Amino acid sequence: MNVYDGQRIAAMLEHHGFIQTDNVADADIILLNTCAVRAKATDKVYSALGRIRLAKKPDAIYGIIGCVARESGSDAFRKIKDLNFVLGPQSYHKLPEILSDPDNKLLDINLGGIEKFDELPPISTSPLVAYIPVQEGCNHCCTYCIVPYTRGPEISRPFSDIMAETMHAADIGAIEICFLGQNVNGYKFTDESGKTYKLSDVIQETAKIDSVKRIRFTSSYPTEMTDDLINLFGHEKKLLPFLNMPIQSGSDNILKKMNRQYNIDEYMALINKFKTVCPDIQISSDFIVGFPGESNEDFEQTCDIAKRVGYINSYSFKYSPRPHTAAAIMQNQIPENIKSERLIKLDSILNDRQREFNLFCVDKTFDCLYEGPDKTGTHQIYRTPYMQPCIVTSNTPSPMARIKITSANKSCLHGKIID
Ligand code: SAH
Repeated sequence: MNVYDGQRIAAMLEHHGFIQTDNVADADIILLNTCAVRAKATDKVYSALGRIRLAKKPDAIYGIIGCVARESGSDAFRKIKDLNFVLGPQSYHKLPEILSDPDNKLLDINLGGIEKFDELPPISTSPLVAYIPVQEGCNHCCTYCIVPYTRGPEISRPFSDIMAETMHAADIGAIEICFLGQNVNGYKFTDESGKTYKLSDVIQETAKIDSVKRIRFTSSYPTEMTDDLINLFGHEKKLLPFLNMPIQSGSDNILKKMNRQYNIDEYMALINKFKTVCPDIQISSDFIVGFPGESNEDFEQTCDIAKRVGYINSYSFKYSPRPHTAAAIMQNQIPENIKSERLIKLDSILNDRQREFNLFCVDKTFDCLYEGPDKTGTHQIYRTPYMQPCIVTSNTPSPMARIKITSANKSCLHGKIID
């Protein structure tokens, strides 16, 4: 979501005559687009602001955008006196106001509107992967999560707006479309004629665009996986057979305390449904270890489920208490050293399975999407349908290539392009 917001902000500033620079000392305006999901991300913002303050030109204006802006509000101006703007995730289209009045301070952390989508100029060239938001905010109220506070309640975008933006992205170069939302599969929009559109409608309409070759979406909530969406994995060839479906914990007891609205049996039944309609599907997950009250037994259940499902790629985090959340004031917070031990143990299980799946891919052939050169500039990185990075050597990279996997390790694949 932040990548998308960043592209729109960049397009807006370009519209005002700015050009991008990587050098803080050259910049006339500097903004940090921020994430508040874990405390570490928030802390990084303030240390980065300190560094920017020292490096920037004296008259350059700077500020924060996104969820940390929403979380800290006017406190940010108290912490960093000469900061110029603090704009929440639904107000960044107001940035031009500070350009016309740089001596002022601009604060807007209001929620409840999605005018930003309409008010920003469209991007003029698209990367091969276009991120298209279908909804903002979340109504789930997981007890650990700051998102309902920072991004507000769910608002689904009009179907016609999403399709117009998707077609525009395809026209200007996108080959893969990734639909976004904090609760992406909760997307639901009813138009003036009374017709209701769901995520499956968005995907099917997008699949009709010839130049779009791959479709995916993130981040989904298990109980919002309806049959229309699940069945699409069985017959919509452009929908990648790879799904992020966060489980968070393997213990029913902890899931309840997290206010996740499923238990492990229900989650496993869902996985089985996906595997039945699409035998090739692979799943990734998010995990939180060390949630308040998590016993050794609860944690062992998380390890068991990680092994049972065999996720091919996952994100795992130590629980981080966040302001405005119920879990932050729960009893039995877990000491940091135990959280760290548990994370190491879970990661080793997740990494083993990731390596195992990567090795399983050796000798297989996939249609892959070009991502860019590697760090050395001598090889190219492509993404398989399972989003694994695959390194190849070729003189002329093409947007899509058929690649035979020749070797693999935990973090990537190597392959060669076949005609
Ligand atoms: N559905 C949202 C989730 C955002 S956060 C979205 O993707 O837009 C991504 C992941 O961060 C969550 O799935 C969860 O595993 C983790 N997370 C959220 N709050 C957290 C917290 N307080 N501490 C640790 N991890 C957290």
